[in-house]
Amino acid sequence: MLIAGNWKMFKTPSETAEFCAALRDREGELEETDVVVCPPYTSLHHAVSVLAGTSVAVFAQSVHWAAEGPYTGEVSPVMLSELGVTGAIVAHSERRQLFAETDETAALRVEGALEGGLSVIACVGETEAEREAGETDAVLRRQVETLRVVVHEDHLDRLALAYEPVWAIGTGRTATPDQAEEAHELIKGILDVPVLYGGSVKPDNAEELLRQTNVDGALVGGASLELDSFISICRSGATS
Ligand code: PEP
Repeated sequence: MLIAGNWKMFKTPSETAEFCAALRDREGELEETDVVVCPPYTSLHHAVSVLAGTSVAVFAQSVHWAAEGPYTGEVSPVMLSELGVTGAIVAHSERRQLFAETDETAALRVEGALEGGLSVIACVGETEAEREAGETDAVLRRQVETLRVVVHEDHLDRLALAYEPVWAIGTGRTATPDQAEEAHELIKGILDVPVLYGGSVKPDNAEELLRQTNVDGALVGGASLELDSFISICRSGATS
């Protein structure tokens, strides 16, 4: 079971160090769960330093596909690796919706990150309009298929997908366990890697979602910013 905290654009470097020190002190409560935190770029160094020697991994929130080049504002896999960052989220719906990322750039980023030795959590998910139009399956098939064709089979053990229905992110609305299970089953039928659920996961709904057969973990936004709620969700992962 993998629980990843996506901090989005929250926590300065000093706030990150403080949170990670408190998380480190409570590492014993994380039990069998694989735990990842994904701070902003400016906090990655602090997170890696404070969490060194623990089982908690540090991922970035995005990554470029090239090792270097004229890509203002971007960060490469080798730059993250040298910091001690071991993976990255790719194509979060906020990147797709607010920063014009596409299935094609998602595929490039996934391929580049895996080639560069990083682990990846690649996000897929339908919008509310797509769900209402009955297009959820087609959207997920298109998104996952675009990733499947670029992933080398030797790299599959470093890839996870996150099913994040866009209408459930940061809204307090959660997919029902049945909706999540149905989407995860479809996704795993195309690309057989762990699939995390994301979208308003909280301590009080985590256990039921994580209990679904094809739900292999959670990508948690808002509820990962507060230590007690994040640890509570990690513990739900251990017991589900
Ligand atoms: C996310 O940012 O990936 C996310 C799922 O956010 P939230 O948990 O706040 O809905």
